[in-house]
Amino acid sequence: MASKFQAPRGTFDVLPEAARGRARVEATAAGILARAGYEPIQTPSFEDTDLFVRGVGRSTDIVSKEMFTFEDKGERSLTLRPEGTAPICRAYLEHGMHKLAQPVKLSYVGPFFRHERPQAGRYRQFHQIGLECIGTDSPLADAEAIMLLSDLLGELGVPGVELRLGSLGSLGARVAYLEELKAHLHAHEGELSEDVRERIDLNPLRAFDSDHEGTQAVMASAPTIVERLEGEDAEHFAEVRAQLDAAGIAYAIDPTLVRGIDYYTRTIFSFVCDALGAQSEVGGGGRYDGLIEQLGGPATPAVGWAVGIERILLALGEDFEGTPRAQRVFISFDHEGEDGRRALVLASELRRAGFAAEFDLAGRAAKGQLKHANRIGADFVVFLSVEGGPALRDMRSGEQRPVDLGNLVDEMTGGEA
Ligand code: AMP
Repeated sequence: MASKFQAPRGTFDVLPEAARGRARVEATAAGILARAGYEPIQTPSFEDTDLFVRGVGRSTDIVSKEMFTFEDKGERSLTLRPEGTAPICRAYLEHGMHKLAQPVKLSYVGPFFRHERPQAGRYRQFHQIGLECIGTDSPLADAEAIMLLSDLLGELGVPGVELRLGSLGSLGARVAYLEELKAHLHAHEGELSEDVRERIDLNPLRAFDSDHEGTQAVMASAPTIVERLEGEDAEHFAEVRAQLDAAGIAYAIDPTLVRGIDYYTRTIFSFVCDALGAQSEVGGGGRYDGLIEQLGGPATPAVGWAVGIERILLALGEDFEGTPRAQRVFISFDHEGEDGRRALVLASELRRAGFAAEFDLAGRAAKGQLKHANRIGADFVVFLSVEGGPALRDMRSGEQRPVDLGNLVDEMTGGEA
């Protein structure tokens, strides 16, 4: 019975079966991040537009093309959050977290919104799990952040994952390199895509990300920042690499790696997965030593990442088993008498003992209830209103026997509860 309404373009419904897969991804991440001392934070679904314009950068695709922006009744410009780092830095400052012991380690999960062209693995509402480690410039924080994402993808069994690693240098040190890159781009203006040409002076780094053939040819001979790293930037990058080596985390240095957000400095990384097709990145992030200052706070180095839940699920494929279900018990009773009350109480007891317990809510006769129990995949059926007292049926073996309700849990677990 389709109505004329559908989920908006680029969005999707998560139906119950799919929800179990997501729940397992989220629970796995929650465990890994909590064990590393990350604490969950939640920020609103929308923020002042200016937070993203300043934080993510005016010349990025996200800000210039992809934001869902609207005015509230007070004519303030608000935007559905396209990413999580700027909001968390806003919250860090707003709640005086710079006065806490540093670094402050925060994790998050939730929906994000970008007006992109929808395709497999790319949606207008998608969900990210992420972490931010704010208040340290130690390379160990970079290596540990990368390790945690690697652990998450490993524990979930995401196949064919590769880690790409790069460094953008610090903001000050990057100035000379950017001039060199702009000169290279200007020298080849005629061969570049219009998009890249228009933004040579605003955002030259994004030329590395272009899928335009002519631009790619120009970028093949472009100077890379990894070759130009000096002093503390070079040392920092070398240290991150040595730490990853020590931890046995394999990576490939990608001197052309850039990310579609302006706030990155020094380390950047991307986990790609060959099972994903065109949208091959499953997750990524990097260091953003200038962002908090950019938002009006004290100079505060930080590093973080985000991983797409939909991309993880896509990479894992159909066979990924979601959170295991509890054993399911269906309580069958006769609607004619007052056994509905007993069913209600028994269901509650069984739930407290860890079972999933349900009873009929549709006025079905005994036969219909058994059929329904089968349909919902019940492991056991308890018959309350049968002659000779309650009975228990094991739905896998079909065996049915009288049961003392006081021993019901033992009977179903074989005494192992
Ligand atoms: P970003 O916030 O752009 O660094 O992206 C981090 C991760 O979020 C990516 O690696 C993807 O897994 C996921 N992601 C970003 N944009 C989308 C989108 N439009 N649809 C689905 N997942 C996305």
